[in-house]
Amino acid sequence: MDAIVLFGIQGSGKGTQALLLSKQISYQHINIGDALRMQVSKQTALGREVQAVIESGSLVEDDLIFRLLEQSLDPKAKGIVFDGFPRTIAQAEYLCKVYNVKLSIYLDLSEEEALVRMSSRRVCPSCKANYNLISQAPVKEGICDHCGTRIEQRKDDSPDAIHKRFEAFYQETFPLIEFFKNLGVLQKVDASLPIDTLAKQIYSLYYDPCPIES
Ligand SMILES: [Zn+2]
Repeated sequence: MDAIVLFGIQGSGKGTQALLLSKQISYQHINIGDALRMQVSKQTALGREVQAVIESGSLVEDDLIFRLLEQSLDPKAKGIVFDGFPRTIAQAEYLCKVYNVKLSIYLDLSEEEALVRMSSRRVCPSCKANYNLISQAPVKEGICDHCGTRIEQRKDDSPDAIHKRFEAFYQETFPLIEFFKNLGVLQKVDASLPIDTLAKQIYSLYYDPCPIES
């Protein structure tokens, strides 16, 4: 099965871009966070296992993540666009064993800009609609367009939490740049570009990949 990996710091827009690309090229889109939440909300055997781990305050182990991927996979899919996976070199090694990684795109964004984007994220506590005060503000200030509830900041978007996630990104995920470069499948894009421009660039990379040489 072919796989495309989008990775970058939180706030780089990899989720949005992964979704757009997967629709354009008819691949399945797997966001590992969403996949985890879905198993938990469906209360599958795997979901209950994940929930127990999360409630105990531990990290979800790789083995559980790999089983989750297997379960989330549509066997009829033409290929998969991953976002939020792999997060570490160990996960990337698994990915390469199981999938044919055609392309890996690093969405490059400065930590400063990522911080600005992350701290302007808001969510509707009622209907879960996502907003961004800079790029996607609600029509009426502070109020959800869909249901009229007051929007708020997620707990894991607090400055402290964001800082911790950035640190984890640079320690664990950033080394994937070298990893994918060595595989000859790395591409880099400027994630500060507008969503549409970036989407076009990523789409053209899919058809005409000229990877960065190691
Ligand atoms: Zn709402």
